[in-house]
Amino acid sequence: MNRFLQLALDLFDPPATPAAGPAAGSTPRPKARPRARPDLQASLASAPAPAPVPVDLTPPQDLGPAATLDQVLAPASFTHPGANRHALLGATRVAYEFKRARRRNIGFSVGPEGLTVSAPKWVPLYEVETALQSKSAWILRKLGEMRERAQRMETARIEWKEGASFPFLGDTVIVVLDPRQGAAGGGLLQADSQSLPGVARHTLHLGLSHAASPAQIRDAVQAWLMRQATRVFTERLDHYAPLLGVQWKKLSLSSASTRWGTASADGSIRLNWRLIHFRLPVVDYVVAHELSHLRVMDHSPRFWDTVATVVPDYQALRGQLRDEALPHW
Ligand SMILES: [Zn+2]
Repeated sequence: MNRFLQLALDLFDPPATPAAGPAAGSTPRPKARPRARPDLQASLASAPAPAPVPVDLTPPQDLGPAATLDQVLAPASFTHPGANRHALLGATRVAYEFKRARRRNIGFSVGPEGLTVSAPKWVPLYEVETALQSKSAWILRKLGEMRERAQRMETARIEWKEGASFPFLGDTVIVVLDPRQGAAGGGLLQADSQSLPGVARHTLHLGLSHAASPAQIRDAVQAWLMRQATRVFTERLDHYAPLLGVQWKKLSLSSASTRWGTASADGSIRLNWRLIHFRLPVVDYVVAHELSHLRVMDHSPRFWDTVATVVPDYQALRGQLRDEALPHW
């Protein structure tokens, strides 16, 4: 049954017509990114390597008994917005960005936009294709993970208005517009001990009028979160520094989208304020990680041993940090 469906999808989505929409009968594509497919013919014409793409005619992979109907019906393609080549990996059409680079081997990277392949100038295209096929299981798994993540991010987008909710130290906090608070207070967190189980207990009372714009509400919440971040991070740094036998000098907040924290040899620590969305143990892991760098500057086994002395379950916490989708701001 699965195999039949896959074959049917292949027929509906032939590689020869890249401009065609998603296969009939497939589930709608996620809305996370603009779905416009780049015109492969046009981009091939301007690409440095205009040779025709070898199309793999091997039969579709058997997804095995573990495949759910969703997986079988999922759009059998991934398209990088800067795609200039494509390949058929099993039953899945992958349009990827291909770059010639000064490097010694063929490199694959899967990011939020899709697959990028870079190869040295002297490697012929058929070898690139062979390498793609041999790495296809890894590539498809990563592309699937990225698509899932993008979908989770999309649902995590916050609409800033009265009643909006956001995560704070792993708990859900609900925004209440409360002009009586006055602008000076910025925000007041209140806990309702009488709420029903499963209903968020915390409300953040912002000193804003009911006519406040979404941007004003978002900025007020962010300012409040950044103050909480400074308070909590300072407290946790003070807790872990003596345990690790190090001294930290200065804390600054960052909002880099790719890094949770950095440590400099002079004892200054930078932490991403968005960490405050996570449960305290996750915050603690990042704090302990950066402080451990004041003892071991690299990520050698000795470094991880140092982290483990104060956060023994750091591996699980590290995984949560990677997997959880944070709200969009
Ligand atoms: Zn590190």
